[in-house]
Amino acid sequence: MLRETIRSLAEAKIAPHAAAVDEEGRFPREALDALVASDLHAVHVPEEYGGAGADALATVIVIEEVARVCGSSSLIPAVNKLGSLPVILSGSEDLKKKYLGPLAKGDAMFSYALSEPDAGSDAAGMKTKAVRDGDFWVLNGVKRWITNAGESEYYTVMAVTDPTKRSKGISAFVVEKSDEGVSFGAPEKKLGIKGSPTREVYLDNVRIPADRMIGEEGTGFATAMKTLDHTRITIAAQAIGIAQGALDYAKGYVQERKQFGKPIGDFQGVQFMLADMAMKLEAARQLTYAAAAKSERLDGDLTFFGAAAKCFASDVAMEVTTDAVQLLGGYGYTRDYPVERMMRDAKITQIYEGTNQVQRIVMARNLP
Ligand SMILES: Cc1cc2nc3c(=O)[nH]c(=O)nc-3n(C[C@H](O)[C@H](O)[C@H](O)COP(=O)(O)OP(=O)(O)OC[C@H]3O[C@@H](n4cnc5c(N)ncnc54)[C@H](O)[C@@H]3O)c2cc1C
Repeated sequence: MLRETIRSLAEAKIAPHAAAVDEEGRFPREALDALVASDLHAVHVPEEYGGAGADALATVIVIEEVARVCGSSSLIPAVNKLGSLPVILSGSEDLKKKYLGPLAKGDAMFSYALSEPDAGSDAAGMKTKAVRDGDFWVLNGVKRWITNAGESEYYTVMAVTDPTKRSKGISAFVVEKSDEGVSFGAPEKKLGIKGSPTREVYLDNVRIPADRMIGEEGTGFATAMKTLDHTRITIAAQAIGIAQGALDYAKGYVQERKQFGKPIGDFQGVQFMLADMAMKLEAARQLTYAAAAKSERLDGDLTFFGAAAKCFASDVAMEVTTDAVQLLGGYGYTRDYPVERMMRDAKITQIYEGTNQVQRIVMARNLP
């Protein structure tokens, strides 16, 4: 029922704008409005904080169905979970009440600010600092590549509170867009997900009350990594959604397009390509759903499964979308058809929330 609801909403209200959002590189406002109107913009927020209380699998289905029509728009529910999960996992009751309510209502979005210009895969090498000053913390630094920066009201920001302790000297904070000293860089000019703003976040003497710290001092990096265990599964969902969109389009196209006097779908070479695409995609989906169940149950092997789902599904998405372009021939290579956008959008899923090389490091360290 959930899938039917989100699919019909995505097809009616999000798909018609996907090409323009990509072409114009603009935020998918229509998608945000439609998702908020149906309470599907941040479904993971627990009911006790005014949310829909969707479990990890339901959240995956929402993201998957939005991504099937528009990769950029799927980052609305995905990043709302990424940004707010540190608060849900480790925040005080007061922080949860203050920040999850507006998120659930659709009055605010939440971003996640871990990466920096010189700290990507080695996120613990961050330089952003937070220094205690009485009942306040003062933050200074630059966060880079922050999805939905400028659009989100709230930001989970990881910062060094004790430089002698590396990852154990990092703490997490909620920073608000309206806090004095917060500003944003120009939107990055990207290959894909062009409708999802990616900007630097500048923190210039941002003075915030001490109770904005998420969890205990020095636990921020652990919270950031625990968050990724859960949210890499949402990136896997985005990947399978984009790939499904490309497969669905290619499946229809091969029945229409005729060469040598018959539909190209009648050729066994084409049929075998479609069979491989569907097979790999279904394997990725099953792994993602299994990982989502583990996320919900907090299973001990979640770290492996989260990394495996993200890595496998994103590699499959890149293959499937590239093959979809191939199946459309020259037409697939143009912006007149959606599969080239899907191929460009798929690429990011191999890079963010840890590159697929990093996922393999995580898997190797957490072999089941
Ligand atoms: C569009 C977009 C949106 C993003 N959104 C966010 C966001 O909302 N919040 C956020 O905090 N970050 C975000 N990121 C950042 C993203 O997570 C990083 O780009 C990613 O983790 C890689 O870091 P890097 O770009 O510095 O690459 P690097 O770490 O410099 O990596 C470069 C290459 O080296 C490889 N490499 C590095 N170390 C190793 C190793 N030990 N072994 C093998 N290979 C290695 C990598 O796999 C990669 O191929 C986003 C990035 C993009 C492009």
